[in-house]
Amino acid sequence: MDKETHNRRGSPCITVHISGAGPAGIAAALTIQRAGGKAIVHELKADVGGRFHGDFQGLENWTTAGDVLEELAAFGIAASFEHTPFRELVAFDPEGRESVYRSPDPVFYLVRRGPNPGTLDVSLRDQALASGAEIRFEDPQRHLPEGGIVADGPRGSDAIAVGYVFDTDLADGAFAAVSDRLAPKGYSYFLVHKGRGTVASCFFEDYHKEKIYLERTVALFQEKAGLRMRNERKFGGTGNFLVPRTIQKGDILFAGEAAGFQDALWGFGMRYAMLSGHLAARTLMEGKPENYDRLWKRRLGGPMRTSIVNRYLFEKLGDEGYKRFLRNAYRKPDVRAWLRSFYAVNWWKSLLFPIAERAVRSSRKEAACTMESCDCTWCRCQHEAKSAIHAAA
Ligand SMILES: Cc1cc2nc3c(=O)[nH]c(=O)nc-3n(C[C@H](O)[C@H](O)[C@H](O)COP(=O)(O)OP(=O)(O)OC[C@H]3O[C@@H](n4cnc5c(N)ncnc54)[C@H](O)[C@@H]3O)c2cc1C
Repeated sequence: MDKETHNRRGSPCITVHISGAGPAGIAAALTIQRAGGKAIVHELKADVGGRFHGDFQGLENWTTAGDVLEELAAFGIAASFEHTPFRELVAFDPEGRESVYRSPDPVFYLVRRGPNPGTLDVSLRDQALASGAEIRFEDPQRHLPEGGIVADGPRGSDAIAVGYVFDTDLADGAFAAVSDRLAPKGYSYFLVHKGRGTVASCFFEDYHKEKIYLERTVALFQEKAGLRMRNERKFGGTGNFLVPRTIQKGDILFAGEAAGFQDALWGFGMRYAMLSGHLAARTLMEGKPENYDRLWKRRLGGPMRTSIVNRYLFEKLGDEGYKRFLRNAYRKPDVRAWLRSFYAVNWWKSLLFPIAERAVRSSRKEAACTMESCDCTWCRCQHEAKSAIHAAA
C-alpha cells in the first residue's frame, strides 16, 4: 500500500495493489474503491477470464440461508453478469438411475466464465473500471513491495475438470452424475442454457485418464439426458483447496484460491473468492491487516474445515456409498435446505477435522510465510513457514 495518489474526488487516498483480476481480486478492488481508496489491479493476461472458456459454472446458493446475490450486493458487487437461477437438478447414480432434486429457492445461479460479454469476469471487470479502479493487463506481479492483496488463483491441482463447451438445440437443464467410472471421487455435470452447453468430468485423482473419463461422461449424458453437441470446443482447468493457518504476511494478504479458499468437496470457489477478496480489502482500508485472519476464520474457517471433512467422507463412499448418498438426499423435500445442513459446521465434523485434514491430499503449500521482509506474492521459499505458522495457529 502507499498513500501518494488521489481518488476521483481529488482527495489524497490509500492506493492498494492487487495481483490478479479474477473474482477475488476484483471484489477486493470494488471494496477499496467504495471505501475511498484507489485500487490498482495487476493482471497476468491480456484480459480477464483468461483461465476460462465460456463454460458454465454454478454460483452456489446453499451455504447460507440468505441469497448469495444479496451477500455480493452488500459488498458492492452488482449482479450485472448473466445469471440464471436453477431450482432443479437431475442426478444419476452409478447405475444410471435418475433422481430429480428440487428446491423452492435457487440452489445455484448459472453463470458463464471467460473473456466474453455477459460472463462473470467481464461484468466484474467493467464494474471495477466504472468504480475508478485501474487494471494493468499483461503486468504479472511476483512481489508486492508496498503490500497489497494477492489474488492470482490456484497454485496446485487438487482437482481437475475437463469437458466441452458447445452449441445445442436442447432445452435448459442441469444434470449431474456421480460414479468413479466417470469422475473418480468427484462428479460429472451437464448444463444447458439458451442454446449453450457445458459438459465436464471433475475428478480428484487419476488425472492421466482424463480422456477416458470425459468420453464416459459424454456417453452417459448422451444416453440418459439426450446430450447433443454442435461446434464443441474442449476446455479444462484445475483448482486447489487448503485451510490455511494464516494468509497474512505483514501488509500482504492472500485471497481466493491463492489463499486456498475453495469448497473442498465439489470445488465451488467463486463465492469464497469474492468474499475473501472483500474481507482482505476491508481490513487494509481500515488500516488493520492484522484483523484479516480473524475475519476470514470467522466467516470462512468453519465452512472450509467442514468441506474438508465432507471430502474425506465422500472419498470413502465409492459407488455403493454414492448410491446411498443420493438416495438419502432424494428423500429430503428441499435439496437446498439439505445441502445447507450437509455443509453446516457441527460438533462431530469439527472433531473429525484433524483426521480429515491429514487424510485429504492437497498439493498446496501455505501461501504466507512469516519472514517480515519477504514480499513474494507466491512464497515458494516458504521461509520457515511450516514451523512458524503452525506455532502461530
Ligand atoms: C473447470 C472449472 C470449473 C469450475 N466450476 C466452478 C463452479 O461451478 N462453481 C464455483 O463456484 N467454482 C467453480 N470453479 C472454481 C472457480 O472458478 C474458482 O474458485 C475461482 O475462479 C477463483 O477465483 P480467484 O479470483 O481466486 O482466481 P482466478 O479466477 O483463477 O483468477 C486469478 C487471476 O490472476 C491472474 N494471475 C495469475 N498469476 C498472476 C500473476 N503472477 N500476476 C498477476 N495476475 C496473475 C490470472 O490470470 C487470473 O485472471 C471451477 C474451476 C474450474 C477450473
